Amino acid sequence: MSDIEVPVLQDYVPTPELHPGAMSHLKPFKATPEHQAALGFPGTLVDDWKEVAIRRLGELVDGSRALRVYLDSCVKCGACTDKCHYFLGTGDPRNMPVARQDLLRGVYRRYYTWVGRYLPWLVGATDLTEEVLNSWYSYYHQCSQCRRCSVFCPFGIDTAEVSMAAREILDSVGVGQKYCNEILGKVHKIGNNLGLPEPALRNTVEGLEEDVKEATGVDVRFPVDVVGAEVLLITPSADFFAEPHIDGLIGYAKVFHQAGISWTLSSQASEAANFAMFIGSREQMQKVAQRVRDAALALKVKRIVVGECGHAWRVAYAFWGTLIGPLDFLDPRYPRPQHICEVTEGLIARGALKLDMSANDDKVVTFHDSCNVARATRMGDRPGGQFTVPRSVIRSVCAHYVDMDPATIGDRTFCCGGGGGLLTDDLIELRVKGALPRLQALNAVVEDKKVTHMAAICAICKTQFSKVLPYYGLPREMVVSVHQLVGDAIVLGAKE
Ligand code: SF4
Ligand code: SF4
Repeated sequence: MSDIEVPVLQDYVPTPELHPGAMSHLKPFKATPEHQAALGFPGTLVDDWKEVAIRRLGELVDGSRALRVYLDSCVKCGACTDKCHYFLGTGDPRNMPVARQDLLRGVYRRYYTWVGRYLPWLVGATDLTEEVLNSWYSYYHQCSQCRRCSVFCPFGIDTAEVSMAAREILDSVGVGQKYCNEILGKVHKIGNNLGLPEPALRNTVEGLEEDVKEATGVDVRFPVDVVGAEVLLITPSADFFAEPHIDGLIGYAKVFHQAGISWTLSSQASEAANFAMFIGSREQMQKVAQRVRDAALALKVKRIVVGECGHAWRVAYAFWGTLIGPLDFLDPRYPRPQHICEVTEGLIARGALKLDMSANDDKVVTFHDSCNVARATRMGDRPGGQFTVPRSVIRSVCAHYVDMDPATIGDRTFCCGGGGGLLTDDLIELRVKGALPRLQALNAVVEDKKVTHMAAICAICKTQFSKVLPYYGLPREMVVSVHQLVGDAIVLGAKE
């Protein structure tokens, strides 16, 4: 583990003492010219970066009324100041959402408002300097775009959108982030974030088929590129190799097997994640999403189901319609993408899965609402389904379930600390400190309710928690996939 001053878990998360500049040293590795070129961005800081950045900012506010409103309408009420996990974990006032927004707002006011041009001191307008550009790079990569602050802002100002715009401008002047841009290059070249080529993918899922056969005696298939399958499963590539993700993939396969639903993975679209959202690039988002439409058409599927990945579900739910729609070739009964949890919940409700809850009797489970699912999507056909559907699935397979503090779940959920393109070891200090509020609430139910496991439906959350839990003295194994719980409880071969 890295040598980091880890915050102490207390009974509640106090508003921290202010430590100005405490996180100003932290910057993720920059993308190389090769990473940048693969996405069509300049390889290094362009000579006329100031003009390019100001022009791009103007284009972005002209193209998004929401962004302009966010930059225009903050009244400095302060309601958001103590709502960001990165501020709570670091005490750096630049990690207050309003201060983070002001880094871009000041420049917007200076160049795009009358009063900012002529009376800059009156409205906090600032010149765009290299120092400002550096602070953008640092602090817009200390925002996981979780949108928690927007829930508390009386104007609904969404710092995530401001952060995406800033990162988009940074890419346009040649200062990209290595982690996101390298991954996007792999998706374009190979098809997934891992850079897992088709033979390796096939090899991996064949190994899973053998593992499940050995454990259960049942032939559960993990099909790839099956033309005419009913369902195309789009899932994060972490599901193919990482723990506890892979147990979730086994759970999906058992669900489809037991329900008699033919399904397939796609070697062409072997990735649900769409990191282009994190860097704010619509063009890249469209390009990554297009693989899904192409794969669905090539495989002639009737439904698209998305596995456990928070931001991927947001992209599918909120953006596919405009990016790659209309998806009018799908079965009219399933005209939009479905989340694997709503599929499983529906099957459980109509008795299509035989379950033995006692398989999870050794666990007391809580559930972490992932930010993008909680604050940017729905699930199923009822309001609040994004909160109730996963819990309903867990309760169907697990007798012992408790929620964490209501102030930290649902639409007020705290980020895991690694979302928004920050799940990289060069930001481990931020990830550990930013996990504080969530782990505080988790620790409370561990101590008071004897919780042993925390289930999640996001690949990033699972990886982040597995990494940071030990820093707080909690076991990494306590993070589980929701569909691991389901998979363990399914009684295979005993259809009603
Ligand atoms: S979007 Fe999330 S990470 Fe970003 S400032 Fe708001 S609360 Fe913090
Ligand atoms: S809550 Fe909204 S209006 Fe108030 S300071 Fe924060 S961003 Fe500005």
